[in-house]
Amino acid sequence: MSALLERLRHIVGPQHVLHEGDLIAYEQDWRRRARGKALAVVRPANTEEVAAVVRECAAAGTSIVPQGGNTGLSVGSTPDASGTQIVLSLTRMNAVRQIDRDNLSFTVEAGCILQNLQELADKEGLLFPLSLAAEGSCTIGGNLGTNAGGTQVVRYGNTRELCLGLEVVTAQGEIWHGLKGLRKDNTGYDLRNLMIGSEGTLGIITAATMKLFPKPAAQLTAFAALPDMASAVRLLGLAHEFLGAGLTGFEVMGRFALSLVIKHMPQLRVPFAGEAEAPPYYVLLENSDSESEEHARQRFEALLERAFGDGCVLDAVVAESLSQAHDLWHIRESIPLAQAEEGLNIKHDISIAASRIPAFVEHADALLAREIPGVRLVNFGHLGDGNLHYNVQAPEQGDPKVFLREQEDLVNHLVYEAVAAFGGSFSAEHGVGALKVDKLQKYQSPVALSMMHAIKQALDPQGILNPGCILASTPSA
Ligand SMILES: Cc1cc2nc3c(=O)[nH]c(=O)nc-3n(C[C@H](O)[C@H](O)[C@H](O)COP(=O)(O)OP(=O)(O)OC[C@H]3O[C@@H](n4cnc5c(N)ncnc54)[C@H](O)[C@@H]3O)c2cc1C
Repeated sequence: MSALLERLRHIVGPQHVLHEGDLIAYEQDWRRRARGKALAVVRPANTEEVAAVVRECAAAGTSIVPQGGNTGLSVGSTPDASGTQIVLSLTRMNAVRQIDRDNLSFTVEAGCILQNLQELADKEGLLFPLSLAAEGSCTIGGNLGTNAGGTQVVRYGNTRELCLGLEVVTAQGEIWHGLKGLRKDNTGYDLRNLMIGSEGTLGIITAATMKLFPKPAAQLTAFAALPDMASAVRLLGLAHEFLGAGLTGFEVMGRFALSLVIKHMPQLRVPFAGEAEAPPYYVLLENSDSESEEHARQRFEALLERAFGDGCVLDAVVAESLSQAHDLWHIRESIPLAQAEEGLNIKHDISIAASRIPAFVEHADALLAREIPGVRLVNFGHLGDGNLHYNVQAPEQGDPKVFLREQEDLVNHLVYEAVAAFGGSFSAEHGVGALKVDKLQKYQSPVALSMMHAIKQALDPQGILNPGCILASTPSA
């Protein structure tokens, strides 16, 4: 192994092969669910170095775990405990190669931090709409690797819909130059879309051409209280009808989720939710208008008037300024942190057709309450995309660690069986990683699994790219 490390030092420079010392930032996942041990962390500076590293690893039969910001939530970016895997960190590859204003696109390297790309687009008077709470740390390579969603999907789509082309290093250490930036290209199998969402198991993304958009003339945010989940889905339909392409955000939050924000972040002012008889659900809506603020406000007012008339909104506030809008978004983005403050919990990132969500929630809430008395449900998420973070917290007096140890399997079983019964997905946006390999095995159809194994075998026959992520190592395992 020391011979391999020597060759890798020769390729990327000795200071970029981290072998000793504290490597916890690379070896432990963001949620601290898994801690592995790497043979080394290798930090190439460009695509040719990535390709050379892969060739050396392939020759040595050493597996590679691609890593960006290590903010993934499915344990896909950290090594196993064997001490034999290389973590390939792309963070040094953070150049912006080109901004093509006429094509409304830019070509950026995989290690670019998402927030830096948003700021760059903004400086150019344009919009890069991918937005998620980890944007200060996650990289575009990781966003593509997981096909990240976030808060603007209802209008702009997942990362896949934002991508026009990729540059990828294959498992054999060859470079696929697919950065044409074309919006139409029906020339055979869609390799770009195959790579996106493959969580580092089919190739290493080294650069991408991403779409840019005109900046909206005005953005307005509203926060509404609702009598039930069915009203939230009804409001979503009205928002599509009244705002059209202006609807850029539609987030739902349950009362208990907001009560945790109030408890753990008392400095935040949460509209309506602190009241004694607080309504059970809340929605954060964003309207991005291409004309003017006045036009945006008029459309919002028409929407809310209709929603009040229909009885699907009980109360609503519309932000008066950008800073008020930020404060409202901050409430929504604080839920995961407030939940963590309350103690360890069991997370689910599920999607179900929006029309079926009210029935699903009624069913799953009742089931969990019956099977685990006192259990607390932290339900929130991107309802505009049919995506709920349907998380489960220990009963109030319970020890979260004991709860996790004793109830996690049962809770997951109840939730995922219900999701399957409602025709949904057990992973909407966080991917499969190493955490949910058994769930994919259980809930994906045998035909789909066999095609996935065939693709993996064809592109990475040695199985050196992120083994143990997404697929069990053999089809029957
Ligand atoms: C607070 C918080 C909020 C979040 N909110 C959201 C959200 O709203 N929506 C959402 O979808 N996700 C969300 N996430 C999850 C996470 O931020 C995303 O999955 C993000 O896209 C991961 O980017 P990363 O650079 O950190 O990737 P990493 O965590 O480093 O890697 C993730 C996966 O991609 C692979 N990978 C990384 N780089 C490459 C590459 N260059 N080529 C090939 N494969 C690669 C890794 O091997 C791994 O399998 C959130 C996470 C946190 C901590």
